[in-house]
Amino acid sequence: LETQLRLADRMTSMGTLAASVAHEINNPLSYVCANISYLGEQLAGDTFSPELLAELRQVMVETQEGAARVRAIVQDLKSFARGDEEHQGPVDVHRVIESAARLVRNELQRYNAQLEQVLEPVPLVLGNASRLGQVLVNLLVNAMQAFPEARSENNRIRVLTRREGPRRVVVEVEDNGKGMSQEVIERIFDPFFTTKPVGVGTGLGLSICHTIVQSMGGQIDVRSVPGRGTTFVLALVGIEEDKGERKNGSTPLVEESA
Ligand code: ADP
Ligand code: MG
Repeated sequence: LETQLRLADRMTSMGTLAASVAHEINNPLSYVCANISYLGEQLAGDTFSPELLAELRQVMVETQEGAARVRAIVQDLKSFARGDEEHQGPVDVHRVIESAARLVRNELQRYNAQLEQVLEPVPLVLGNASRLGQVLVNLLVNAMQAFPEARSENNRIRVLTRREGPRRVVVEVEDNGKGMSQEVIERIFDPFFTTKPVGVGTGLGLSICHTIVQSMGGQIDVRSVPGRGTTFVLALVGIEEDKGERKNGSTPLVEESA
């Protein structure tokens, strides 16, 4: 029953997502199409006043922005909707963190950001490694984009893992970026909510993260203080460890009182 509920929940959020995606793509695309036919009509003429040229250039810029927006949305969706990523199995969270960190390494350098990892031994979790990887990449990219100055000396991101009780694995992604107001926090998981300029933000990242984490039976939460920073907290479902499964887990797991 739990699986069925989870599946139903997932279908609902995917249905909602699909509907809003269709809408979000349709708007800029209609606009792009209309602009292109306008440009076509105007370019059919043979005299171009400076005013007309200036206007056509402006239309061109707006058309490019519209197309960039559609492309960004489709790219986000592609990473969300890959069919080969449905398999649920035991996932090594630390390996996923490593590969997510590798993926964003260049970006980190560009932002001059330090990525610190504080990883306690944790059990494997149930889920899909590449989807969990997408969640982490999304959170890391958001963290970088939250730095008020791209190349400041103290741009820091910290990824923490810890075990809570026998079955819960907590992953935190913390940044010392600009933080969020309460109004923003309330909307961040809504599809297409973004505070970023066209072409930078689609507003899909966190709604996708939310859907993925839910599909793994987990939860995603946020704490944020404007001007201080933001922490995203993932609570995932740990699974019992088989003896000898952790090769480098020589540190005994500390049993916490649940
Ligand atoms: P996008 O990054 O495309 O804007 P997301 O769904 O990933 O879409 O994020 C939605 C919004 O949440 C962002 O536009 C931003 O305002 C806010 N946000 C997300 N992560 C952070 C963060 N680490 N620090 C500050 N604001 C954030
Ligand atoms: Mg994002």
